[in-house]
Amino acid sequence: MSVPRFVGLDVGGTTMKAGVVDDTGQVLSSVSLPTEAHLGQEFGLRRMAETIREAVKAAGESWANIAAIGVATPGTMDIPAGIILDPPNLKPWRNVPVRQYIAETFRLPTAFQNDANAAAFGEYWCGAGKGVHSMVLFTLGTGVGGGIIIGDQVIEGEHSHGAELGHMKIEMTQPRQCGCGRWGCLEAYASATAVVRRTHEALHRAPGTSSLQRVLDERGELTARDVFDAAEAGDALADRIVEETTFYLAVGAVNMMHTIDPNMIVFGGGMIAAGETFLHRIRKHIQELAFPVPAAHTQVCFARLGSEAGFIGAAACGRQLYRRSQS
Ligand SMILES: [Zn+2]
Repeated sequence: MSVPRFVGLDVGGTTMKAGVVDDTGQVLSSVSLPTEAHLGQEFGLRRMAETIREAVKAAGESWANIAAIGVATPGTMDIPAGIILDPPNLKPWRNVPVRQYIAETFRLPTAFQNDANAAAFGEYWCGAGKGVHSMVLFTLGTGVGGGIIIGDQVIEGEHSHGAELGHMKIEMTQPRQCGCGRWGCLEAYASATAVVRRTHEALHRAPGTSSLQRVLDERGELTARDVFDAAEAGDALADRIVEETTFYLAVGAVNMMHTIDPNMIVFGGGMIAAGETFLHRIRKHIQELAFPVPAAHTQVCFARLGSEAGFIGAAACGRQLYRRSQS
């Protein structure tokens, strides 16, 4: 094989994304198919294989050049065993032997990884973290995901539960309940869902004081984007919500800085559409909260790979498996 290529597959709750990536992280194709988890796990496995085939076809690539495959899925999972256990986002799947099925179907070395860890590895390989030694990623969407990379190593933990950054405890005095059922998690304060929930509560406490009330009355719902837009436009209530959100995220970031002292903290996911002001505010709070040396030296930035980070990172895991087998 003169030019090894790698296929990455990112299995999400609603869509599966796959792409072929070259040895430098260049994306040669990008496809997606609906996951349709409700059709069951047998269908799900066939759909994974189908998405991989589509990606190779779209790249116009010969299968002889594909050196390895990487598959990323949401948890819960047993990473060393290659199995999805009981994923809340892929009901009713249970105990699905993903790695074995893909490896046997394509007769290729296959890596298996948590989706947030894979996104972090993608950003580390060829996105925001390119060239750094250690990096922490927070993904801000419906939930808060996370990944930690130190020296080419994805920190999976001993029980495949490492880097659950959305569930670090940040508030234990009258803590909010998290989607995970536990209390005081970062996700319960700083996910897009949490931003909307906190805004609803603030509007309820102070009716008629915010432009967001009109948006809510007209549309019947609010999005995190509405809150960020209103803050940019000078709405005081929205501004306070954004300020608190950036404070919570800074608390999460500083906890990681004081735990592993990485080169870089990266924020990704849909919520970074809020823009540079959002990032500046997080940085300002980090400066207030962190030890002076890490505060001065840790880079804090946005992710660069967008929604392709998952499959690029999955491909990077496949590439790592391939390279280790070659050395
Ligand atoms: Zn939680």
